[in-house]
Amino acid sequence: MIIAIDGPAGSGKSTIAREVAQRFGFTKLDTGAMYRAVTLSALERAVDLDNEDAIDELARTIQITFPAGSGENVRIAVDGADVSEAIRTPRIDANVSKVAAYPGVRAAMLTPQRAFAEGRDVVAEGRDIGTVVFPAAEIKVFLTADPRERARRRVLQRHEGEEFAAEALEAEIAETLAAIERRDDLDSHRAAAPLVAAPDAVAIDSTAYTIDEVVARIAELIAERRGA
Ligand code: C5P
Repeated sequence: MIIAIDGPAGSGKSTIAREVAQRFGFTKLDTGAMYRAVTLSALERAVDLDNEDAIDELARTIQITFPAGSGENVRIAVDGADVSEAIRTPRIDANVSKVAAYPGVRAAMLTPQRAFAEGRDVVAEGRDIGTVVFPAAEIKVFLTADPRERARRRVLQRHEGEEFAAEALEAEIAETLAAIERRDDLDSHRAAAPLVAAPDAVAIDSTAYTIDEVVARIAELIAERRGA
């Protein structure tokens, strides 16, 4: 079975996919991490991000793998080197949408994404999973949340357990909101595989729901499919 979870930045796809994977014994595929890995490789090798041909070539050449690791500890490597932390920086956030918009980059990611799902139950998260990567996925979820709430969750997650002054928190939320809106805009308006809900996706707005409530809704969808 394949569960596709698509949605904008910070809507909670990763957390939800991880919970679903753990509870139902699925393997999680984070496709955003792959685009981040291409972006990191380009920056590290000083490949001009505006040079589409060079970026396409890079995406075709590097080997992206998911070394052993499960649950919270899913890892990603480029040519054998673990980049799991290096792909989660503001610099990558700011540049990944440009790289992910190139059709050649997307084509290079498609084969490994589909190969990953062969012979196993997968919960895959991204922007085009239900529309392009796995259009025949048994379950499709389009996960959204109010942009300000998404920014707030991101910032709170980033500073979990820390003491933080209210004004500093507000300033960081405003900054994060601007970055999220910019990325959503680029991802939604590109020509190749834009962020859009598949016609047969179940839309879940998580603004007012807890993680457990969203997972419970997906559990219902799984039960319905399995009973069908
Ligand atoms: O999900 P995450 O925020 O890590 O994704 C990073 C970026 O990768 C997105 O903003 C988008 O540009 C790109 N992406 C994509 N298609 C996917 C997953 C991610 O274009 N399926």
